Amino acid sequence: MSARTTLGIDIGGTNIKGGVLDDQDRLLARSAVETRADEGFEASFARIVALIDELIAAAGVSRNAIAAVGVGVPGPMDHAAGVVRHAPNLDGWVNIPLRRLLTERTGLPCFVENDANAAAFGEFVGGTQRAATDMVMLTLGTGIGGGVILGGRLVRGRFDNAGEVGHMIVALGGRACPCGQRGCLERYASANAIRERLIEAVRAGEKSSLAPAVYGSEPLTAEDVCRAAQQGDEPSQRVWDEACRMLAAACVNLQHVLNPGLIVLAGGLINAGEALLGPVQSYFKELTWKICEDFPRIEPAVLGGDAGLLGAAALAREALLAAGAGHAR
Ligand SMILES: [Zn+2]
Repeated sequence: MSARTTLGIDIGGTNIKGGVLDDQDRLLARSAVETRADEGFEASFARIVALIDELIAAAGVSRNAIAAVGVGVPGPMDHAAGVVRHAPNLDGWVNIPLRRLLTERTGLPCFVENDANAAAFGEFVGGTQRAATDMVMLTLGTGIGGGVILGGRLVRGRFDNAGEVGHMIVALGGRACPCGQRGCLERYASANAIRERLIEAVRAGEKSSLAPAVYGSEPLTAEDVCRAAQQGDEPSQRVWDEACRMLAAACVNLQHVLNPGLIVLAGGLINAGEALLGPVQSYFKELTWKICEDFPRIEPAVLGGDAGLLGAAALAREALLAAGAGHAR
C-alpha cells in the first residue's frame, strides 16, 4: 500500500461524506453519514471520527497506511492554525480547533480546508482531461461558493477567504445579502435567489404559471423556475435570464482579474444543462471586451458530489508534503 494513501472528509449541512484515495486519487472506499447539524459540535465530531474508522476498515488498509486526513468545512477558517472560525450551518461550530482535536483523536495527520476551496481543488485534480493550470470554480447551490487555482495551486489569500466569488458585487446598491453587502452575485444567481425572486414577482402581482406553487404547500425550487422559463412563463424567464447574465458578468470580472483558462460551473443549478450554460456563454461574449481574445472556457463540473472529499484528501497530501519539505530544510 502506498504511503500516499489519503482520506478526505466533506462536511455539509445535511451529510458528511468521506472517501479513501490511493496515490492516483482513485477512490478505494467511500461512505456517508447524516450530519445532524442541530445536535452540536461534540455529536458531529464523534460522527466524523466514526466515519474515518469505518472508511479505513472499508478500504481494507491499516491505519498506518493513511498518510493524511483532509477535512472540508463549510465556513471561514484560519487554515494555518487549523481553526474553524464559524460554520453557520453547523450548530456550535465557532472557533473550533478542528485540526488539533481530530489529530489527537485519530492519531493521524489532519488538515482542514474551506469546503468550497476543497471542491474546486477536487474538480481541478479530478477533471484531468481539461488540463488547465489556472481555473476558477463557481458552485451554484443554496448560495454561491467557489475556489481559485492559479499555477496549479489553490489560492487562499491573506485572510484565507480568497475564492468567495458569490460575494462579488454585480449590482451596486442591489439586493441585500446576509453577509452585510448589497448586490452580491449569490443574491441573483444562486438556487435560493432564483426561487426567492420568482416568489417576490408573484407576490407583487405578476402573472405566472408558478403562482399555485408560490401560494401552495409544495416547495418551489430553482428547477421549477428553469422549467417554467422554458415553457414561456415571463417572470420565470426574466429571473432565470438575469441569473445567467449576472453569472456571465462575474465570469468577465474573473477573466480580467485572474485570466484563467477555465471557469467551471458546479452545484445543483448545473442540472439545468444547456439552459444555464448556453445563456451564460452567450452573455459572456456580449459583455466581455473586444480588444483581445483571452476568453476562458466556461464548462460544467464533471465530478459531482465527490469533488469536495477528493479535494480535501488531495490538499491534505499537499500540506503533508509541504510540512515534510519544511522539516527537511
Ligand atoms: Zn454577500
